[in-house]
Amino acid sequence: MNHSNQHSRILQGIAAISLSAAASIGFAGCSALQSKPTTAVAVPTAAATNSAATVCAADAGWNDPATPRNIFGNSWYVGTCGITAILITSDQGHVLIDGATEKGDPLIAANIQALGFKLSDVRTLLISHEHHDHAGGIAYLQQVTGGTVYARAPAAEVLESGNATRLDPQFLELDAMAPVAAVQRIAHGQVLRTGALELTAHATPGHTPGSTSWTWTSCDKGNCQQLAYVDSLTAISDDVYKYSDDQAHPGYLAAFRAGLKYIATLPCDILLTPHPSASNLWPRLDAKQGAATALVNADACRDYAAKASIKLDQRLLKEQSPNQ
Ligand SMILES: [Zn+2]
Repeated sequence: MNHSNQHSRILQGIAAISLSAAASIGFAGCSALQSKPTTAVAVPTAAATNSAATVCAADAGWNDPATPRNIFGNSWYVGTCGITAILITSDQGHVLIDGATEKGDPLIAANIQALGFKLSDVRTLLISHEHHDHAGGIAYLQQVTGGTVYARAPAAEVLESGNATRLDPQFLELDAMAPVAAVQRIAHGQVLRTGALELTAHATPGHTPGSTSWTWTSCDKGNCQQLAYVDSLTAISDDVYKYSDDQAHPGYLAAFRAGLKYIATLPCDILLTPHPSASNLWPRLDAKQGAATALVNADACRDYAAKASIKLDQRLLKEQSPNQ
């Protein structure tokens, strides 16, 4: 891939972000994708309860098995202890966001089945970002579910080749992934429909060029909440990359900052993150057994983005004076 292509792609991402950050737009006029036609879907007969949940430590490993748990309404945690995967169900097909590592993905498949859902009913596969700890298992999950994989262009290219490029801040430290076939491109603001489910894609680049956050609504007995699966926002890199080097990757830092501002505006009653510890998920899920509202915090996205913004500033200072 030549550099001017890479740059124009980044700039397209920035244009998308600044458009939406500039105005508190809804996504009227955005095109919608409809997943392939669905057939009747088996409803689980014996969904797992939270009572026998494995206790996951805050610093749990990526491949440590976790008990699948209900998050809210039709949204379920099916990841490992260290890596989040979210299943959102409907009677016309399900959506799965993120696939953990290649080693962890059979655990995700087993968790979906343990809840009583059929793998073949997972019609849509999405990711947060194109790193092996979240997307390494997508090829396997595509195979066992037959679902369609959707990603924003910078992530889709990495999924298809299995290899990151120098556009990724962590390029020199990343493991290759099993290549994913036929990734469908989606854009910022696009709404993906799977049966009655509607998920909106939000470009939030920075941690990776293809970083994407997702929002949707889940309801429980008439109580509806906005769920936001907001991507990792950490400004970390290999030893060579500098976020401040705008010559090397024009506009990347500006897009990162615009994304952080934008995240603060997302519909966000319940924040979820690709690493459960980043949004303190386990204590929140435990507390939810008393009251579902324990999961809800209308400021969660704003606080998450604000913390990341401070960390980004610290990182930039360090790049200016590496010895301090
Ligand atoms: Zn990552």
